[in-house]
Amino acid sequence: MARQLWTPWNWFSDGKNVKMCVSKTLRGLVAIVLVVTGGVSVLSAKESAESRSQKRVLIIGMDGTRPDALAKAKTPTFDRLIKEGAFTDNANILGERYQKNDTISGPGWSSILTGVWADKHGVHDNNFKGKNYELFPHFFKRLKRERPDAKTASLVSWAPIHEFILSEADIAEVFPLPRGKNQTADLRVSADKLDINTHDGKWHHLVATRKQGQLKLYLDGRLIGSLEGVDLEFPLGGDFYYLGRDSRSGATGFNGQLDDIRLWKRALTEAEIAQAASQMSPTNRQGLLAEYLFQGELNDSAGHSKGPFPAQPLTENATVRYARHISDTELNRIDFAPTGEKTHGLRIPLNDSLRDLTRGDFTIEARFMTTDKGRNILLGNYDGKAGALNLELHEGNSVRVYFQPPDPKNAGALEREGIRDQQIAAKAAQILREEDPTALFVYFHQTDATGHAIGFSPEVPEYVKAIENIDARVNTVLKAMQSRPNYANEDWLTIVCTDHGGLKRSHSNGLKVPEIRRVFLIVHGPSAQPGPIPKQAYLVDVTGTALTHLLGKVDPKWQLDGKAVGLEPQE
Ligand SMILES: [Zn+2]
Repeated sequence: MARQLWTPWNWFSDGKNVKMCVSKTLRGLVAIVLVVTGGVSVLSAKESAESRSQKRVLIIGMDGTRPDALAKAKTPTFDRLIKEGAFTDNANILGERYQKNDTISGPGWSSILTGVWADKHGVHDNNFKGKNYELFPHFFKRLKRERPDAKTASLVSWAPIHEFILSEADIAEVFPLPRGKNQTADLRVSADKLDINTHDGKWHHLVATRKQGQLKLYLDGRLIGSLEGVDLEFPLGGDFYYLGRDSRSGATGFNGQLDDIRLWKRALTEAEIAQAASQMSPTNRQGLLAEYLFQGELNDSAGHSKGPFPAQPLTENATVRYARHISDTELNRIDFAPTGEKTHGLRIPLNDSLRDLTRGDFTIEARFMTTDKGRNILLGNYDGKAGALNLELHEGNSVRVYFQPPDPKNAGALEREGIRDQQIAAKAAQILREEDPTALFVYFHQTDATGHAIGFSPEVPEYVKAIENIDARVNTVLKAMQSRPNYANEDWLTIVCTDHGGLKRSHSNGLKVPEIRRVFLIVHGPSAQPGPIPKQAYLVDVTGTALTHLLGKVDPKWQLDGKAVGLEPQE
């Protein structure tokens, strides 16, 4: 087909109200009926260009999606596309000729977006060394060389697609993962506020409570500080809770004496806290999970008396008399840190009820006596990653409660992947409503992220749910497409694809792994030939199909490995 036929003819820009109807049965013969307000205009030489200019492509890429999980997921949008369009659940991510690249996203999206295998595009893994996009470019570049009027847009969350593969995009946006809420609560208050010297060598009483999302600190029975919005619920992490330190060893261990330590599954009232500060035993013991009184002596397993806490490091599994761990059947038993490792303080094995301390309301309390002006951890289990709750004295005569959800930097990462996919879908919808794209690539990532975090399998509910989420995102995009004012006259081809499957939590080295190599392909639109795709389909066919639809044919000089699949036969 001659190139000048594809030059732009902006017949909408002259302000006429023009409608074009393409007869489906006669399509391919370029039969076009134009109805112009006030009369019928007859086209001749430009009919083909007309028809061509309305050929458009939407490519939905969903990273790391297995076809068997797609089949299991409840996906009304994909179901409709599959029913109305062409489909295979047996496409392959590696071709016959060349299989030396890894089965990961770098080579995968390169093959999808260039239409050639890794021996040509040169990308074998995610470091993109050897890339040869000069000779085998992104299909946007092929499109623009043939149809200079074409508008292209690419929306991704995996940056290397734009950094390395993409070229000739009029709109390109990489979406970062939205930041998680900082749900670590760090309440640190100077005791100067209450004219109390915490390191005067006298007994003091420190309490932290959480009630309905409000974290409060009490020193010697008086409220000294509070923090709102501390509503996250999580289990305490690690294997132990510690007295006189946290999960780390080092200089922050408590230097002094501790007593009357209690962990509660409810927020004590101010009256109860005042009572505890005056060293009275609690009258209402409801919700008391653990209590360490140390009125007596510490004895190791051999029965040696070691004096009041903090004792010298004792042998492991020593028994502390009078230290009651109420939720245990063995009421008196707690462990000491093994000698030679983390020798300071006591460690309490975290059972299920203690782990749940940080779900819902709680109270942690301790009496202390020290002359140390530095940081002194009274209780805690902080290790940087696990769900943690520390009660501390700090420099500057301050008291502190520190409350941290597990792995705070990654907290809610998969949900945030879902939010990011929503942002991408919203942007794609906006482009479809407000711009005039010829080719639009929209990439979703929650599937791959969920596969790596939990598992690539139809048996993993989160993975299946991620596919269902993307189905809803695609619905958003397609609705925007269908609401385009000229939609009836546009010939949109929607291709849904993925770069690989996965097994367990990985998809590398998948040459001999069907769960990784086998993928699906959907081709939908007026130009699609409905039904199963009869030929063996491959990743490279996405570009082969897109360019065939957009240009009518592909130039053999491009040496594409991909062919058109799922399209009605050309004239
Ligand atoms: Zn991956």
